[in-house]
Amino acid sequence: MSLEIVRTAGSRSYPPRLSTFSQTFWEALAQGDWITTRCRACDKQTFPPKSVCPHCWKCEQAWVPFASTGRLYSWTRVHAAPTAFAPEAPYALGIVDLEDGLRIACRLVAPSSGEVAIGAAIQMIVLQHDDGPLFAGKVLA
Ligand SMILES: [Zn+2]
Repeated sequence: MSLEIVRTAGSRSYPPRLSTFSQTFWEALAQGDWITTRCRACDKQTFPPKSVCPHCWKCEQAWVPFASTGRLYSWTRVHAAPTAFAPEAPYALGIVDLEDGLRIACRLVAPSSGEVAIGAAIQMIVLQHDDGPLFAGKVLA
């Protein structure tokens, strides 16, 4: 299943540093594909993607699609942002428990009207900036 791609004006404030390994993730994300690594030895998946399994230390990773929906575990609104993100403040950051058990931190795309409820349904989306993609959690309810 592909993620919704939302065109977002401007460049990313702090673009990810690409490596030969991580480039696979970012190129897939630009197409709306939400993938991470699953260890062929112990079958556990991790996010962010890793070339070495943090559970069993094997280097036998496969790229696999993973859950793109989940529930909001926690969140905050950043008013005093680091310099690179200051023009975007205030903005919301969340910790999301995805349906397959992974817990990730991400920017939240939330209703501008106010508070977001813990436990809210989240759908991961792609923010397609002029210079490349980022991912974010869209608050559904
Ligand atoms: Zn493993």
